[in-house]
Amino acid sequence: MGRTIEIDASAGFCFGVEKAIETAEEKLGKGEQVYGLGEMVHNEEEVDRLSQKGLKVVTADAFPEIGPAKVILRAHGEPPSTYEKAAAHGIELIDATCPIVKNLQNKIRKRYEALDHEGEQIVIFGKDDHPETIGLLGQTEGKAVVVSDPGDLSGVDPGKRVYLYSQTTMDPDQFFRLEKNLGEQVRSGRNTKPVSNCSICNQMKRRKPNLREFALSHDVIIFVSGSSSSNGRMLYEYCRLHNERSHWIHRLEDIDPGWFGADDRIGISGATSTPVWQLGKVRKYLETI
Ligand code: SF4
Repeated sequence: MGRTIEIDASAGFCFGVEKAIETAEEKLGKGEQVYGLGEMVHNEEEVDRLSQKGLKVVTADAFPEIGPAKVILRAHGEPPSTYEKAAAHGIELIDATCPIVKNLQNKIRKRYEALDHEGEQIVIFGKDDHPETIGLLGQTEGKAVVVSDPGDLSGVDPGKRVYLYSQTTMDPDQFFRLEKNLGEQVRSGRNTKPVSNCSICNQMKRRKPNLREFALSHDVIIFVSGSSSSNGRMLYEYCRLHNERSHWIHRLEDIDPGWFGADDRIGISGATSTPVWQLGKVRKYLETI
């Protein structure tokens, strides 16, 4: 029968990341010196590729040294303080924030401006060190409560009504767990009913059912993502739940030829931060072993 290798058709960059990288490449293609504020994507190989094209990664602390200069904001978005700092140092921002994230930032800011601080609070479900969550938190002058574990509500004031939002790349199942736990606070009479805004991106919501089907229809899965991608870790773990012969790799050297049998149906998938070209590279390599 022989071995087959297939790339997951639903894998590849999400639309926001794809657009931000296109913007960066367009500017670099014109020979302009462009800086990127933080890595464009949580993927080492893609970061290397962009750096070879001339993209220099900086932090906002470097603004005084590089200004006046052009700096690209990645899809995750930034807090208002970044825009203020850029203006103060003559930095021209090329804002490649994903429009969905931008819209979410605006919603959170408007809610914060209308908030009754005595009796209401904003809760953001997200990773506290994730750039998108830092950008969302910035819309509330740092006052929103960030919850990263649905089982830990210690930061949430049980006496205040909750307005709940989410980083766009969080796990929908975990979000619903958090929603349920906040609801328990209501039932125990310690809080008023939370107002839940599930702001997880539809691209993320579709990923898990698609990945489940892909994992179940292959004998072995090679899941490709950057080592620091939280979305990558979550999707890989989900993949392994449905196919125990799943392997998480960050580069070709991580692949062990002993993982594959002669007649295996091999599936290659990746996170929303994994470029399709990287999946193609893995496929080519697998064809040689
Ligand atoms: S996951 Fe969705 S909202 Fe987040 S950057 Fe990608 S496309 Fe935008």
